[in-house]
Amino acid sequence: MKKRTLEILNKMDEMYGRDIPCYLNHDAAWQLLFSTIMSAQCTDKRVNEVTATLYKKYPSVRAFADADLSELEKDIHSVGFYHNKAKNIIACARKILSDFGGEVPSDIDALTTLPGVGRKTANVIRGNIYNEPSVVVDTHVLRISNRLGFVNTKDPVKAEFDLMKEIDKDYWILINKWFIAFGRTICEARSPQCQNCFLKEYCKEKKKV
Ligand code: SF4
Repeated sequence: MKKRTLEILNKMDEMYGRDIPCYLNHDAAWQLLFSTIMSAQCTDKRVNEVTATLYKKYPSVRAFADADLSELEKDIHSVGFYHNKAKNIIACARKILSDFGGEVPSDIDALTTLPGVGRKTANVIRGNIYNEPSVVVDTHVLRISNRLGFVNTKDPVKAEFDLMKEIDKDYWILINKWFIAFGRTICEARSPQCQNCFLKEYCKEKKKV
């Protein structure tokens, strides 16, 4: 790993540490999977508000597999795109039961066969549930990786592969948590706090934003 990359990661480590819980509340792999599906175009805070009651009403994969689509749509209405999300969650629950013995798989190829599950969601599961080194490229990771010069692309899948080359495996799970913390408080999308940024000496974008 380049010296510059390690310096940036060391500064993030100093700032945020390694004991960062998952941003989506969950007690089981399937809960994190469905919460991640619901989190597309929605805040984690809103998803956590919805799931606080949702996972009491539907306490298992089987309960979601048997759910009535229009009722589930109402239950998750406030996360947005509720029709597609409800449809995918029910289909996903049915496939987990039919193809994977009721367990969320850990293999990326298996995970991405599930309805509504792309590489980002699959990598959330691999990293947080199975502790498999995986790079989750969400909106914060994509933006910050570009601003810090780790990647030069707007394509999340290309960014994922470029980050895997740029950054040692030991950091793959951590960078998502660090970049989200950094992106929410300092390197925000529209109004980054460049004056107060502890990484400004490394930033390629600070003059443009
Ligand atoms: Fe983000 Fe500004 Fe820091 Fe660059 S200097 S990383 S744009 S907050």
